[in-house]
Amino acid sequence: MMKLDFRSRPIDENFFNLPDKYPVTGMHKNHEVRAEGILRIDQLGKPYPTRLGIHGTNVAVDWDSCIADGACMDACPLHGFEWYLNEGKSGKGNDIKIKEGTKLWKKFRTDKADPTSQDECVYCNACVVACPSGAISVLKRI
Ligand code: SF4
Repeated sequence: MMKLDFRSRPIDENFFNLPDKYPVTGMHKNHEVRAEGILRIDQLGKPYPTRLGIHGTNVAVDWDSCIADGACMDACPLHGFEWYLNEGKSGKGNDIKIKEGTKLWKKFRTDKADPTSQDECVYCNACVVACPSGAISVLKRI
C-alpha cells in the first residue's frame, strides 16, 4: 500500500447533529456530502491533506479518513459500496491506484469508498467492523 502522509481519525459518529461543524455542502449521486472543502484535523492533530468531507448519512464514510482498504466492500452483504474513481467496481485491490504528486493525488490521496446503496442497508455493521481506519459510521439517522 502507498505510504500516506496523514493518520486517519475515526469518523465523528455525531456528525449529523453538528451542522455547524459538518454542514451539508453538496450531493453526490443519491447521498448528501458534508464538510467538503473544510479543513479538518487528523489523528496526529495535523490538518488532513484532503478536504473531501463525509459522504452519506445513514451509511456514512469519512473520505478524509478512508485509505482505500476495500474491506468494507468485501464485508457488505448488499454490495453497498463502490470505488469512487473506479465506478461500478468494488472490493480489495480494485481501487484506482494514484501516483504521488499528480492532480488526483493532491485532491484524493487514495481512491474512496462511495456508499452508493444506503437505502438498502440492513444495519449489520459489517463494514464498520471491517474498516481499519474507523472511517465508517452506520446508523438510521433519517
Ligand atoms: S451496515 Fe451492513 S448492509 Fe449496511 S452498508 Fe454496512 S455492511 Fe452493508
